[in-house]
Amino acid sequence: MPPAPARPESPPSPLPATRPSTLTSSLAREVSWQRSLALAIRDPEVLLAELGLERDLGPGVLARLEAVRSFPLLVPRSYLARMTPGDPRDPLLLQVLPRAEELDDPAGFVDDAVGDAAARVVPGLLHKYAGRALLIATGACAIHCRYCFRRHYPYGDEPKRLEDWQPALDYLASDRSVHEVLLSGGDPLLLNDDRLAWLVDRLAEIPHLRRLRIHTRLPVVLPDRVTPGLIDLLRATRLTPFVVIHANHARELVADASDAVRELVRAGISVLNQAVLLRRVNDSVDALAALCERLIDMGVLPYYLHQLDRVRGTSQFEVPVEEGRRLVAAVRARLPGYAVPEYVCEQPGEPHKTPLA
Ligand SMILES: *Cc1c(COP(=O)(O)O)cnc(C)c1O
Ligand code: SF4
Repeated sequence: MPPAPARPESPPSPLPATRPSTLTSSLAREVSWQRSLALAIRDPEVLLAELGLERDLGPGVLARLEAVRSFPLLVPRSYLARMTPGDPRDPLLLQVLPRAEELDDPAGFVDDAVGDAAARVVPGLLHKYAGRALLIATGACAIHCRYCFRRHYPYGDEPKRLEDWQPALDYLASDRSVHEVLLSGGDPLLLNDDRLAWLVDRLAEIPHLRRLRIHTRLPVVLPDRVTPGLIDLLRATRLTPFVVIHANHARELVADASDAVRELVRAGISVLNQAVLLRRVNDSVDALAALCERLIDMGVLPYYLHQLDRVRGTSQFEVPVEEGRRLVAAVRARLPGYAVPEYVCEQPGEPHKTPLA
C-alpha cells in the first residue's frame, strides 16, 4: 500500500462567518495560520506558473506527476514569496519541487533508513536514545520537503485522537530514565493550541520529565503559526522548552519567517536549528556559512547539520560525506565556533547521532 500522504488529521477549520475584527486577537492569529495552511499550493503547475517558470523544467513532467502521487506537493504562500521568480535553481524551490529522479531506486536507499520502526516502543513513541523519547505528534506537515527522511513513515498507524496517546503517556510515566520529550512528526505545531496544550499538560504531569523539545519547521515555512498563544503555552509549562527549527538556507530566514523566529528568541525560548546538507541547495561554503551566520545573528544556535538519510526517493539530494567534511571545515575557518553545527549522520542501532567531522 502506498504510504498515507502526510496531511492534517482533520482539515483546517473553515473560516468563521464573523470578520476577524470581531475576534480576539489571539483567536484571529490562530485562524490566520490555519487559513495560510488552507491556501498553500498543492499543484506543481500552479507553483511553476506563480514563479513564471516553464512547465517542463528538465526531463519528465509525467514522472514528476507520478512522484507527486505518493508524496503530494505542498508549499505555503509565505515560503513561495521568498523564492526568486524565474529562477529554476532557487534553493527554496529545489526543496519542494518534485523531480523525475524521485522515482529512481538506487541500491541502499530504503523506506526506513534510520531504524524508526525498531525504536517504536508504543504507538506514536520512538525511544532510541538515553534520557530522550520522541513523540510523533502528527503526521501532517505544512510543507513537503522532497528530501524528507520520514516521507515513507506509516503515519496512518499513529495516534489520531487524544485518548490514543494514553499508551505513550503511560510508557513515559513508567520509565523514570526519560527526562526529555521531543515532539516531532510530521510537524507538532500543526496541532492547534488546545491540543498542544493538552499534550504538554499531560507531559508536565509526569514528575521525572524536565524538558520539552519541539522539532518544527513551521516558524520557517508557516510563520503565522508563532502566535502569542503558542508562546504563552511554551512559557507557562513547568518543562524547560527548546524549539528546534529547520532551515537549510539563509534565504529561508527573511521577512515574516525572520520575525517569527525572533519572537521566539525574544520570548526567552532557546531556539536551535538543524539543517540537512542538500545537493544544489546548500552544498557550498558560501551557502552554509551564510545560513549559520544568519542564524547566530538572529540568536539561534546552529545545532546539527545532518548528512542526508538514505531514504528512497531522495538520492538526488545526496552530498558525499567527504565533501561535507570539507565544507564544514571551511565554514569553521570563517565563523565563530558556536556558529558551526555538528555534522552528523544517523545510524540505526547507535546510541546517539554519529559525528562525521
Ligand atoms: C535525533 C533523535 C533524538 C534526539 O537526538 P539529540 O542528539 O538529542 O538531538 C531523539 N530521539 C530520536 C528517535 C531521534 O531520532
Ligand atoms: S522534513 Fe520535516 S517539515 Fe519537511 S516534510 Fe519532512 S517532516 Fe515535514
